Amino acid sequence: MSVVSRVKKHISELNPYVPGKPVEELERELGLTDSIKLASNENPIGPSPKAVEAMKKALTEVHRYPDGSSYELRAVLSEQLGVSGEQLVFGAGSDELLELIAKAFLGPGDEAVFAWPSFAMYPIVVKGMGAKSVKVPLTVDLVHDLDAMEKAICSSTQVVFVCNPNNPTGTSIGRDDFDNFAKAIPDDVLLVIDEAYFEYVRRKDFPDALSLIAERPGTAVLRTFSKIYGLAGTRVGYGVMDKEFASFLERSRHPFNINSLAEVAAIAALDDKEHVEKARQVNLQGMEYLKKEFSAMGIRTWDSDANFLLAETGSGTYEALLPRGVIVRPMEGFGLPDCVRITIGNNVENERVVSALTQLRNGSR
Ligand SMILES: *Cc1c(COP(=O)(O)O)cnc(C)c1O
Repeated sequence: MSVVSRVKKHISELNPYVPGKPVEELERELGLTDSIKLASNENPIGPSPKAVEAMKKALTEVHRYPDGSSYELRAVLSEQLGVSGEQLVFGAGSDELLELIAKAFLGPGDEAVFAWPSFAMYPIVVKGMGAKSVKVPLTVDLVHDLDAMEKAICSSTQVVFVCNPNNPTGTSIGRDDFDNFAKAIPDDVLLVIDEAYFEYVRRKDFPDALSLIAERPGTAVLRTFSKIYGLAGTRVGYGVMDKEFASFLERSRHPFNINSLAEVAAIAALDDKEHVEKARQVNLQGMEYLKKEFSAMGIRTWDSDANFLLAETGSGTYEALLPRGVIVRPMEGFGLPDCVRITIGNNVENERVVSALTQLRNGSR
């Protein structure tokens, strides 16, 4: 009883994140084997073998605390990105960066503006600090409505999140639109650009968000090792920003938020260009295959610069695919009840999802 009366209202009202259904859970519930999961935008080729080796080597040292400054990872990444080490902040996934930004900059009475549907963690971190989410609907083509987002900014707005490419639609914003938006919004509003799928982007005119940091100090670019680097389970992401901005997130984080295995894995993954290139190619081929098959079935998809496709497969698709051992991501909670989000898998997985959808369309059980 006392707990209920003591809890902060914004916490008791918070709807927790709903992750993709784990394969083990589905198999336990329905007595299936050989199920596949294309629901969490994980890398179908797995982690870099070099990252696995590095973690194996580091295993015998796990009785030690990690290097709280992530010195080596910071050095390697700052070199690769051409930024100073002080401009980097690491987090347990870029989820933690979102949380640190909320912790440092949001509280009751503050607002955060972002598009919707977009990444499900934005409303969670905002609500978690007792602040208010202002969700700006995507356009009819399911891209960010930057004009409407600009209009939604008011004196209470502390942060604007821009997810580019956008999860769960895969749609992206081009350079001109992005640059105009960045110029139009007030300098004292933080602009957080979530580039979790940056390494998959194909469009030629993708914005150079990193270069904006020098001109506009209230800008942060977030990236992650969870997607193309295949290290979702180790939990590492990073933010690039002005060093003063970074200093506030550094103060807000736990001293050892990057564990020692995650750090060596991330360093090795950054060095394995071959693995990244392979992941990109597998994604590209799978994307083309799925788009072609879906189009032949009359299923609408949206142009995606990421490692997943939003597909208009009709309502109830998520549930109907489960007994066929195929887990995708339902989109009801995002206001897209006729759609599912499908992660691009390997060839076998992509063929499985196509054949399961074909069976559904033919009305067979
Ligand atoms: C996957 C994802 C992230 C972060 O994932 P982490 O595993 O926490 O690094 C952040 N933003 C978007 C849009 C994502 O899809």
